[in-house]
Amino acid sequence: MKIERFETDVLCVGGGIAGLMGAIRAAEFGVSVVIAEKGNTLYSGSGRAGNDHFWAYIPEYHGADIDLFIRESMLGQLGYMLSGLPKNTVRTWVERSSEMVELWNKWGIPMKQNGKIDFSGHAFPGHMLTHVKYRGAIQKRILTEQALKRGVTIMDRVMVFDLLGDVEGVTGAVAIDTREDRFLVFRAKSVILGTGLVIRMYPNVIPNMMANNTRPFTLTGDGRAMAYRLGAELSNMEIIGNHAGVKNYARAGQGSWPGVCTGPDGKPTGKYLTKPDIRHGDIIMEVDKRIFQRHAQAGTGPVYMDCRGISEHDYEYLLTGLENEGNIGLIEHLKEEGIDLRKNALEFATYEIRCGGRIESNERAETTIPGLFAAGEESTYSISGAAVFGWIGGENAARFAHKRPALNKKRTETQIEEKKHFVATFLENKGVTDWFDANTALSHTLADYAGPVRSETMLEAGLKHLRRLKEKLYTMVAARDRWELTRCLEVANLYDLGEILFVAALERRESRGLHQRVDYPYTDPLLNGKILVIKNVKGNPVTEWKEIE
Ligand SMILES: Cc1cc2nc3c(=O)[nH]c(=O)nc-3n(C[C@H](O)[C@H](O)[C@H](O)COP(=O)(O)OP(=O)(O)OC[C@H]3O[C@@H](n4cnc5c(N)ncnc54)[C@H](O)[C@@H]3O)c2cc1C
Repeated sequence: MKIERFETDVLCVGGGIAGLMGAIRAAEFGVSVVIAEKGNTLYSGSGRAGNDHFWAYIPEYHGADIDLFIRESMLGQLGYMLSGLPKNTVRTWVERSSEMVELWNKWGIPMKQNGKIDFSGHAFPGHMLTHVKYRGAIQKRILTEQALKRGVTIMDRVMVFDLLGDVEGVTGAVAIDTREDRFLVFRAKSVILGTGLVIRMYPNVIPNMMANNTRPFTLTGDGRAMAYRLGAELSNMEIIGNHAGVKNYARAGQGSWPGVCTGPDGKPTGKYLTKPDIRHGDIIMEVDKRIFQRHAQAGTGPVYMDCRGISEHDYEYLLTGLENEGNIGLIEHLKEEGIDLRKNALEFATYEIRCGGRIESNERAETTIPGLFAAGEESTYSISGAAVFGWIGGENAARFAHKRPALNKKRTETQIEEKKHFVATFLENKGVTDWFDANTALSHTLADYAGPVRSETMLEAGLKHLRRLKEKLYTMVAARDRWELTRCLEVANLYDLGEILFVAALERRESRGLHQRVDYPYTDPLLNGKILVIKNVKGNPVTEWKEIE
């Protein structure tokens, strides 16, 4: 494999929202910046086709009481994530969110309608509206332009698969070109991980269609797997969640739906909404994902999204929202099938199990490894988290790079050789199986032994299976081309994360959210205000409970 070497002050791994924001900000500090992006920054990641809600505290609208804004936000879907973050991180996020709204609007992302900020979605009727409604369809193009304008080097089709350095400091990363025969070595004084969420760990709603997912197929938690291998702390990796939406049509965008969740008899399933409301929507499906299963089991399912009775103005508002958040395909499909949301209720359901957890990082986006920063869904959640901590990560990664002396080149050469050898394994294996089988085996193991119903015996059995499968991964799985090689490296990350999930789920001896331990069915109050940290100590995942600061 041809080796190519690059040097930069700041390396952004992932050119999603967080990676682009980090790169733009770091470049403003006068340092050299490279983005290594697995796809293409114009079209990649969860923000690729747009978003329409941006969580932001706008003092002129919300008033001076920032704590009230946080308390109100804790009631909705952000609540669980926020409750696991250090207080300083939450406060910093909130304080800097309006700056991002202004900046994006200045750059040309329509954050305002007719010069005014509009709020809707993700809120209980009668409560504070905490999400700016915006038109994000063009956000990736605008952020890419802003990065290029500041001299950022964007390298598309480059998958970073491991970090260089050790617990004393990151020194760069290694990557493959996803199309050409190239092995890339990046030396960097600081690295920002912005690789997004973890997909493909659990089977999909339609198991033979792995890409029919709420998030892009290529998001496999690479950042957290790499951070873990280097020795960084991760937290709450056992926590899982899921998303609701149009049945079988796995798409994010829950908060855009203004209708009422009803049973087939047209009666509301929740208590918050009785007729369509574009400001609030039916928050029952955000706060109680079990309604779908419960109604099916009680013989009163399925559950529908009922927008009938919506006004023409509100119907247009709904379509604009869906268009701006990657749901154009759905709108087209409904048209083709002659389904009119003003006349027909749509069947809704929950989608695949999604991994929670994060790379432990503080309000400066610093991880526990010097020089390594994490932003976006590797560290928080939502477009707002990606924008704010990408930006903050960029500032602090640039400052770190300014202060750091030149890197010792010899130190990492052995590591580079090991990584080259690792990649070659998949190319040289005369394998009997491929990445797809390995991925399927993993996701079924997770679903069967660490699904929503968990116990010590099942988790232990599952962990044993996973470790046995993991050994086979390196001897039996072959990549026939670069595309398959990329998938193999992703699957290797998923196996590491799967193992961590099992170990952490064993340690969390209580039930919380969708982590339901039948042997510990209650929520342990002694674990309130704590996070379960996991890190790699000499190749083994070691857990520790820590107080949230
Ligand atoms: C349809 C849809 C609608 C949504 N609507 C909303 C909304 O209205 N409001 C909201 O707050 N959130 C919404 N979200 C979520 C929002 O898009 C994400 O929170 C946000 O994009 C996260 O940004 P990120 O930078 O962390 O990750 P991403 O934007 O997913 O970017 C990650 C990037 O890293 C790249 N990458 C991954 N691994 C590697 C690797 N190993 N090497 C190199 N590159 C790599 C990926 O290709 C990708 O470009 C929505 C998501 C979807 C899919």
